[in-house]
Amino acid sequence: MATSKKDIRALTKEQLRNFFVEQGDKAFRGNQVYEWLWQKSAHSFEDMTNISKETREMLENNFVINHIQVDQMQRSSDGTIKNAVRLHDDLIVESVLIPTPTRTTACVSSQVGCSLDCKFCATARLKRMRNLNPDEIYDQVVAIDNESRLYHNRPLSNIVFMGMGEPLMNYNNVIKAIDKITSPEGLGMSPKRIVVSTSGVPKMIKKMADDEVKFKLAVSLHSAIDEVRTSIMPFNATFPLASLREALQYWYAKTKNRITYEYVVWKGINDKRKDADALVEFCKFAPSKVNIIEYNPIDDGEFQQAQSSAIDMYVNVLEKNHITVTVRRSRGKDIDAACGQLANKS
Ligand code: SAH
Repeated sequence: MATSKKDIRALTKEQLRNFFVEQGDKAFRGNQVYEWLWQKSAHSFEDMTNISKETREMLENNFVINHIQVDQMQRSSDGTIKNAVRLHDDLIVESVLIPTPTRTTACVSSQVGCSLDCKFCATARLKRMRNLNPDEIYDQVVAIDNESRLYHNRPLSNIVFMGMGEPLMNYNNVIKAIDKITSPEGLGMSPKRIVVSTSGVPKMIKKMADDEVKFKLAVSLHSAIDEVRTSIMPFNATFPLASLREALQYWYAKTKNRITYEYVVWKGINDKRKDADALVEFCKFAPSKVNIIEYNPIDDGEFQQAQSSAIDMYVNVLEKNHITVTVRRSRGKDIDAACGQLANKS
């Protein structure tokens, strides 16, 4: 339903306090409502039991709470859970809970669809519809935290921005969401347990460094050779590897944080020795970690996972050059919840 009422969670705490003062109430009332909205994740004003009925009605007349709805939850045989999340304007995004023996990770979306056009990614086929608001990102995390407690008997421990969208193209809202997630007035999670993954927007990587963010950075590299990278991530033509590397150098100089690279090895695309050598050359300027991730087929076979001998070759070359490398298996493939498979298919 179309509504002209304002989304109450677009207000800062200060604005909410001022609103109550303007209404002839106490500023403190703003704190109480703010706590309901964020820390307690209230879905309606009615839930706010320590607020008087008149005040709740007044809030109802002025504002809406645009809470997300988990429309459909799918559980994989490996414990992975995928949520199809309905937004207030009926658009859908997906988020995923990934359990391991020691942690539960939420993989959250930052945009509806994606503006990038990585050839191997299912999300790229949905054009970008809009950015998510901070509260829509926050709600995805809360929903996964609740599911983690319910199905895995423990709270959420980690968050990765590896769902739909390019987080650095919705930077302000992602930062606001992370502020809420890490604040004691929100979920109180440590920023060290949050990873923002990017295809590499050099200007925004530098901005993150200047903003002295405390979360971790992962870069979806996939190739350290411009020609190859542009053929699979056309966006690389606008921001070639040299500018990405320069931004990462800036990031490292400021933060001293290790850089993680996400890397898929495909048959006939980047599975040769020269590809591995280029990767070493690209990342040796700073302590780095390469996560070799399994390819999750999304289509007609244009892309195929490289043979395990090619993966072994990468591991050898990287290790010889003292670059940390892990080879990761995908989770939740049976429910299309794995990397690059999020496309609102369910
Ligand atoms: N736009 C951001 C966030 C999306 S993260 C980024 O690019 O980092 C999703 C991760 O999954 C990225 O590393 C992406 O390159 C990878 N990915 C996309 N499609 C994939 C697929 N079909 N198989 C495996 N990984 C894929």
